[in-house]
Amino acid sequence: MPAQPVPEKFQQPPIDELALSEIKSAILAKLTLAIGKEATQATKHDWYKAAALALRDRIVHRWLVSEKESYDAGRKRVYYLSLEFLIGRLFTDALNNMGLLAQYGAALGDLGVGLNDLRKCEPDAALGNGGLGRLAACFMESMATLEIPAIGYGIRYDYGLFRQIINHGWQQEFPDEWLSFGNPWELQRPEVVYQVKFGGSVEQVTDPKGVTRAVWTPIETVQAMAYDTPIVGWRGEHVNALRLWSARAPDPMLIDVFNTGDYLGATAHEARAEAICKFLYPNDESPAGRELRLRQEYFFVSASLQDLIKRHLDSDGQIRNLAKKAAIQLNDTHPSLAVTELMRLLIDVHHLRWDDAWQITTATLSYTNHTLLPEALETWPLDLFERTLPRHLQIIYRINEAHLALAEQRCPGDIEFRASVSLIDERAGRRVRMGHLAFIGSHRINGVSAMHSDLMKETVFHDLNHLYPDRITNKTNGITFRRWLTLANPGLTDLVRSACGDEVLDDPTRLDRLEAFAGDSAFQQQFRTVKHRNKIALARLISERNGIRVDPGALFDVQIKRIHEYKRQLLNVLETVALYHAIKDEPNRDWVPRVKIFAGKAAASYRYAKLIIKLINDVAEVVNNDASIGGKLKVVFLADYNVSLAEVIIPAADLSEQISTAGMEASGTGNMKLALNGALTIGTLDGANIEIRDHVGAENIAIFGMEALEVVARRAQGLDANDVITRSQPLARAIRAIDAGAFSPDDPARFASVAHALRHLDHYMVSADFDSYYEAQRGIDARWAAGPAWTRAGILNVARMAWFSSDRTIREYAEDIWDVPTRHATQPPPARLAKG
Ligand SMILES: *Cc1c(COP(=O)(O)O)cnc(C)c1O
Repeated sequence: MPAQPVPEKFQQPPIDELALSEIKSAILAKLTLAIGKEATQATKHDWYKAAALALRDRIVHRWLVSEKESYDAGRKRVYYLSLEFLIGRLFTDALNNMGLLAQYGAALGDLGVGLNDLRKCEPDAALGNGGLGRLAACFMESMATLEIPAIGYGIRYDYGLFRQIINHGWQQEFPDEWLSFGNPWELQRPEVVYQVKFGGSVEQVTDPKGVTRAVWTPIETVQAMAYDTPIVGWRGEHVNALRLWSARAPDPMLIDVFNTGDYLGATAHEARAEAICKFLYPNDESPAGRELRLRQEYFFVSASLQDLIKRHLDSDGQIRNLAKKAAIQLNDTHPSLAVTELMRLLIDVHHLRWDDAWQITTATLSYTNHTLLPEALETWPLDLFERTLPRHLQIIYRINEAHLALAEQRCPGDIEFRASVSLIDERAGRRVRMGHLAFIGSHRINGVSAMHSDLMKETVFHDLNHLYPDRITNKTNGITFRRWLTLANPGLTDLVRSACGDEVLDDPTRLDRLEAFAGDSAFQQQFRTVKHRNKIALARLISERNGIRVDPGALFDVQIKRIHEYKRQLLNVLETVALYHAIKDEPNRDWVPRVKIFAGKAAASYRYAKLIIKLINDVAEVVNNDASIGGKLKVVFLADYNVSLAEVIIPAADLSEQISTAGMEASGTGNMKLALNGALTIGTLDGANIEIRDHVGAENIAIFGMEALEVVARRAQGLDANDVITRSQPLARAIRAIDAGAFSPDDPARFASVAHALRHLDHYMVSADFDSYYEAQRGIDARWAAGPAWTRAGILNVARMAWFSSDRTIREYAEDIWDVPTRHATQPPPARLAKG
């Protein structure tokens, strides 16, 4: 990865010599005492660890203060439950938020090591698949920044999302051994251990007072042990914990079995327990549906709820006050067993009455929905559920009784309505509906963009919304600007600071001061210089990794995200092929040089998505080696997309591809990162693209394609796309070329299935949207050629993105869902800077 220089301005403030020598001795002390090395023997990795540990010490001090203050004040706490946290690297993030980036840079320099070299020693923590997990990571940072006492709960996977290697154009998956060199950020908590039970049976027992209780006799126990990672907010004022659970067996080995000589049998239960935290399920937008996944979900939900109840009782003493002191956010349906587990703990362990327990549960829980795709909504077969969690199934039946009675009251005799709102789906084998469970057990259910929240009411949750009106609310996603602007793009940050003042670091709404500079040609030149430098860095990376030379002067056209049919990388490839044909036809026209940059992983089991990766690489092979197009078009697929790679690509992007089939992308956050870094968006009216258009202005974004309702209407008419293909010569030709093996001469039939789908099974409207997309791309060419107008639009994108800060999103959650106070926003700017 190319060096990401530390922001110049951060290197300049006067560095206190005393502070500097303190930092140096702290790092050296760690190197000797925690790593066990002399400075002369230390590897870069050792230095990185020593520096991270020294920094962690400072953060831990603040953390303990934060904890004590919030407990003493009896403050309400937020618990963010998520099976995924796509964290990336933490070193410079923590340094930046602690205000120590410059000092550490200087201290390390004095010690003879480079901060940017050490930065790259840190593995990219990929405990998530994509947007959903990255959102959780941005939220953790924003909650700390806004000084909300919060804990993020998840699983400490031994292996995160797989490492992607491209071999002859095909994706191959390798284990992500992110912990192999240890993890300096986490603190193991061997004393924080909870028992999580599975299986067995339930009996109804009547006690001497005549009260009947359920007694669950499980047959298996797994222990959850906590590992805490401190998450420090901007300016280092507040620190929260990310608490990840690791699984182990209560007895590591059965000695008597071992003594019979059955060595494997003696540790089999240990392996079964530890499998729970072995790896992250690599599926995105499609449920895993396996027993191990259900065990993962229950494991982390149970440990987290036991932990937060214990903390609550330690400080408050009254279980009945739980909802006043705790807000639990469920990130998607993965933690929705929290509804039943909280009920079980309140009733079976803390002996509350059903109605009281239900009141507390719904007042405490809220649920974020991330997808409308029916195939992506989690359900569990009843028999698997009963075998794994028999007591929880009973609770579900009981919840369902009252719930269906309400449905009957609302729509008397309407059997279809009952069937549609029931917690049990009776249509294809009986299954538990986790989305319904999360909905019924929550006081607020939110979508992640305005459009998505509206569609939730019309589609998946139409009937539940009828039964429980006013629960659905919208919370449009956001991103943390500290990572995605300040750290990822120091050049642009300096420029923004010079134009908007340093207050912009605390208050992104000040970005609007850039408006005054958007038409200023000197400022435009500086803006282009920053972008050009970032493009040179990316071009170097492309050359190092892929051996492809690209011109930093070309338009960098970027589509980076999980590979999925609905995200339509295929539409982008088709346009690439059509453009290639057009350039070949008229090589002497003044084509705008383009570099098409793709990155993203496909789920290991998603064969069609993996075939699309191969197609991108096959097209790249032909296009990049065709001298007749004079280098006007290049195609690059960068392997192993993750947060760190995103931090290099995004600042270098000119064009952001956000081209999902309308109605299918819940929000997107990649779209926000790219616009914030000055890329123009070409996109459909889908997810948060709509709100981005509303903020940046329709003239500063290129919208194309069908709208969500048109998609629904066209699908209803059938999926055959011959009508549009006959009308579009470039589309017909591109499909013919792909079908005929023009990009796969070694295996001409390789993409026959792709061509067939484009012609006859156009579920994602790739063919149907092609012409509109192709035309929008030619509009982009024209704008790029116009120069200053392009730069102006880029500057205006940056200037108008403030609303997409995750600080804004978290403030909305805090006010409307959690009912917790946040640090006050900084005062409004005193006076506007004169145009300079
Ligand atoms: C932001 C981000 C995503 C989400 O991208 P979308 O374009 O919104 O799907 C996925 N992966 C990584 C590594 C990210 O940083």
